[in-house]
Amino acid sequence: MRRSSSLTSPSAVVITVGNELLSGRTVDTNAAWLGRFLSDRLGIEVDLRLTVGDEQNAIATAVAQGMARAEIVIVTGGLGPTPDDLTREAVARALNRPLLLDQGLLDQLTGRFRSAGRPLPDANRRIAMVPWGAQLLSNPLGTAPGLLMDEQGIQVVLLPGVPREMNAIASEAAAEALRRVFAGRLPDIRSRELHTTGVPESALAGLIGDAFPSGFGGVRLAFLPEETGVDLRLTVTGGTASVGRLDEAEAQLREVVKPWLFEAPETGDLAEAVLTALRTRGLRLAAAESCTGGLASKRLTDVAGASDVFLGGVVAYSDDAKEALLGVERKIIDSCGAVSEEVAEQMARGALMRFGAEVAVSLTGIAGPGGATPDKPVGTVCFAAVHGDQAVVRRSVFPGNRDGVRQRSAQAALALILHLVDGRLTPPLD
Ligand code: ATP
Ligand code: MG
Repeated sequence: MRRSSSLTSPSAVVITVGNELLSGRTVDTNAAWLGRFLSDRLGIEVDLRLTVGDEQNAIATAVAQGMARAEIVIVTGGLGPTPDDLTREAVARALNRPLLLDQGLLDQLTGRFRSAGRPLPDANRRIAMVPWGAQLLSNPLGTAPGLLMDEQGIQVVLLPGVPREMNAIASEAAAEALRRVFAGRLPDIRSRELHTTGVPESALAGLIGDAFPSGFGGVRLAFLPEETGVDLRLTVTGGTASVGRLDEAEAQLREVVKPWLFEAPETGDLAEAVLTALRTRGLRLAAAESCTGGLASKRLTDVAGASDVFLGGVVAYSDDAKEALLGVERKIIDSCGAVSEEVAEQMARGALMRFGAEVAVSLTGIAGPGGATPDKPVGTVCFAAVHGDQAVVRRSVFPGNRDGVRQRSAQAALALILHLVDGRLTPPLD
């Protein structure tokens, strides 16, 4: 069915293919990623999502359903060489197009394998069978290219299932092709993201609403809450002409949320901001963790290049380990409890000495579901950060289940380091 083209943005149907998605063995991250990418980057809203198994009829029916509904149909998965990869056959059938050998693509695949010292396996020849009239969308990270077909004005896009290949093709070749096809109908979107932590979404919304009751003059603000913080996304349509307005809105917003703001341009993660702050001051960091079992250390080492700042961490889960590895005094554990500001501070001091670092952070808490006492409910976590003679200690009571408490604890420990070394990030509001 042909959609009448209008000045409004086209909408999309996303179809993900794979038995593993239906059984729940694989979480369908492709559909979520595409929804966000299409909306944020191209101004295309996803109007329906379908998931089908590795079965030709099911795929063909879903594609027909998608085409009856939207001007863009995106299918991910089942483009590879194995017998359960049936998307190209199913789509060729749904569109009533023959599958033809693309000699150029076959030569390219053969060349790729040859340069890896192997002949092209027979199975992989299937990748070079392309529905008649399809445009290839280059895949910089794998063998199977994406495919784009214009079926009476409806754009049918096929992408591989492997998430990183799908992302690469969607954000480069497919985005470029869709921008060309729908030239003049897609908004030119510009956006900025600010990262905050330690302040709940509702409190942020209240502060921002009080400061700017009538908004930011055509610049849209979205709250993107996660367990560990809230990102703020400013979006404007209208291309370069609107960048000035975006700059102004960003400056105004920064001023209001300053106490909870951190900068992490590469990863968006607070760990990056911590490492940068320590690196610029020539300081090295050690960690001592109890209830998080190393989560804060993992977050730090997730950031590439952490080794010049992060020396290491100790997971001291039992009282004995706290005593033996970090020099926490038994009498302090007995009198104050393992979850106490006093023990947290001794843990941090112990890590500082053990690793010969300039800065150390520690945390000890009750992640639950058991372990609560009358004065220490589940979610009680004590933190310390030390830098030479300086120390800051904190106690928080986090809501949520075991995983939530642990995530928030690791985040609060990282925030405390930033607070100690450059006064940023006021104590978490919880
Ligand atoms: P390949 O060439 O690897 O066979 P393909 O295009 O045939 O690629 P699939 O076989 O469907 O893709 O999936 C490849 C891998 O990507 C699998 O590990 C699969 O679990 C994963 N995957 C597929 N679809 C999704 C999805 N929607 N979300 C997350 N992961 C996915
Ligand atoms: Mg496959």
